[in-house]
Amino acid sequence: MQQIPLSKPSITSLERSYVQKVMESERLALGPFLEEFEARFATTCGVRHAIAVNSGTSALHLIIRALGIGAGDEVITTPYSFIASANAALFEGAMPVFVDIEPVTFNIDPSKIEAAISPRTRAILAVDVFGAPADWIALQDIAERHNLLLIDDACEALGATVTDRSGVQLKIGSLGEAAAFGFYPNKQMTTGEGGLILTDSKKIYDMCRSMRTSTRASRRESRTSC
Ligand SMILES: *Cc1c(COP(=O)(O)O)cnc(C)c1O
Repeated sequence: MQQIPLSKPSITSLERSYVQKVMESERLALGPFLEEFEARFATTCGVRHAIAVNSGTSALHLIIRALGIGAGDEVITTPYSFIASANAALFEGAMPVFVDIEPVTFNIDPSKIEAAISPRTRAILAVDVFGAPADWIALQDIAERHNLLLIDDACEALGATVTDRSGVQLKIGSLGEAAAFGFYPNKQMTTGEGGLILTDSKKIYDMCRSMRTSTRASRRESRTSC
């Protein structure tokens, strides 16, 4: 029986030459290629800061931690996702609260969120499943009304956009406090394994950048200003 792969990486001579350059530079971690990757990713999505990490799961985890979400807190999210979106809250001792999806996009149904909000709710973690953006305009309204943080699990949605009420196109990655991307081979773009956090917040940026190396930032890193 012929197998049709769910996804297949496209690796050209360009990628091979970049990997070769890194190998020859003998700087295998946190080098200039990473900085360029972060800068270009942030620019592409129209966001101020990018922090590359080792997986999309780590990206979500660091966002939860940087936002100070932990024991006693609840995070509203969707059950129809990769397990990492719920685990990110659990890793920090917070409780994921599942809200059902809507049938067209398979994304969290905003009309069902308010019934799930409790005094412990801190955030809504929405997923743009299979590249289809969640209803960010409705989510922003709810978050504002209830003073909740908004987190985007954008691991499956690099390059997607949403249109706001005035017809302006907003890029996935630029919505909410922070967004997580993943680069496992089943994603739009792969690095083998990898992930990235996007945020406009200097505070989240500083915390995530510090946590990704367990605060072991090099002198060069700490000198870099953003
Ligand atoms: C891929 C994915 C992640 C992160 O996966 P990693 O394997 O940790 O990079 C998180 N959320 C969703 C919805 C995903 O599809």
